[in-house]
Amino acid sequence: MAEIQRRKTPTVKIGHVRVGWEVPVVVQSMTNTDTADVAGTIEQAAALALAGSELVRVTVNNEEAAAAVPHIVDGLEKRGLRVPIIGDFHYNGHILLKKYPAAARALAKYRINPGNVSIGRKDDDNFRTMIECAVENQKPVRIGVNWGSLDQSLMTRMMDQNARQAQPQPARDVMMEAMVVSALDSAKAAERYGLGHDRIILSAKVSGVRDLIDVYTTLAARCDYPLHLGLTEAGMGSKGLIASTAGLAPLLLEGIGDTIRVSLTPKPGGDRTEEVLAAQQILQSLSIRSFMPQVTSCPGCGRTTSTYFQELAEQIQGYLRASMPEWRKRYPGVEELKLAVMGCVVNGPGESKHANLGVSLPGTFEEPKAPVYVDGKLYTTLRGDTIVAEFKQILDNYVASHYGQGAKSEELVGAH
Ligand code: SF4
Repeated sequence: MAEIQRRKTPTVKIGHVRVGWEVPVVVQSMTNTDTADVAGTIEQAAALALAGSELVRVTVNNEEAAAAVPHIVDGLEKRGLRVPIIGDFHYNGHILLKKYPAAARALAKYRINPGNVSIGRKDDDNFRTMIECAVENQKPVRIGVNWGSLDQSLMTRMMDQNARQAQPQPARDVMMEAMVVSALDSAKAAERYGLGHDRIILSAKVSGVRDLIDVYTTLAARCDYPLHLGLTEAGMGSKGLIASTAGLAPLLLEGIGDTIRVSLTPKPGGDRTEEVLAAQQILQSLSIRSFMPQVTSCPGCGRTTSTYFQELAEQIQGYLRASMPEWRKRYPGVEELKLAVMGCVVNGPGESKHANLGVSLPGTFEEPKAPVYVDGKLYTTLRGDTIVAEFKQILDNYVASHYGQGAKSEELVGAH
């Protein structure tokens, strides 16, 4: 497998988390609670952090939210969670950061959308005020351009210039270029106002997959700032997951992108941590980072008329998810574990042999037995109603004996 050559960038420190080419791609997420609701926001930020979000962004949209920020940061620390909290500012960030210095200090990074502050107009005092707050508090800034709120004066100017050309570019191309120019001009202005080159991260979010790839490829070629990737307004369910993966994967494989977020629209009352798991899964599927053991399971077909193997695959997946918070602490490296849960003998034994642990269940009309493979070799054959429990026991024994302190490497400790 060819190694991915990450694009070289400065390393930006966000609290204790570092972002840039020297360190692995960082997963981040954003709360959707009312930030003024301190308890609710702590609860959700904690859930995101425990799911593996290494940075959590909260909106700071009004005075109540700004006043709540230090209490949220404090509450997370009291729970023993060291997750940097990022403030998302639009329109009034210059007022809030000045009026609530405790929030300005407590936040680990400010996200500024240049389309929503005064930059590009006659004066850029509001943008300048926010940057000066960042300089004073020694905070990094993400300059986050979004095509839904692009600096309109810049956009109009570039469209006018384009219209005067002998061969004007399509409007879509001018817009992509305007996003890049907005991000780079804002970064240049931030440095002019005193922000260090190594305190800037850029993003340019759009909701179209091809647009995303184009705009980030251009941005990456024109600067060395670390880039935060994400498809904005990715959508719900499989649409959001697939579109985000389609957009992020080609960029990540080109070494572009230092932090990522998957902006899924949750179902009403849905689990916000899904966006964290999705971001992790994208990175793990591309072999960029490992977060949890992977289960290979076949799709099933007419050879498996019962749902038994689907249930087993789901149970094993759930068991891994439930076990990981503890396993992560006790068994370093366990996230590299590979499992296979297969529906019948056609591909079952073969796929199982490629995994650390594999089980091939009996298909319809097959003998009711489930051979289990450990590191490519037939280890045992399970039968009857206890296949799930016994397979979990083999899994536990394998994890305990192969990872962390006390690992006995080749030997599977325990039953059989
Ligand atoms: S492994 Fe068996 S059950 Fe699974 S898809 Fe292949 S043939 Fe069908």
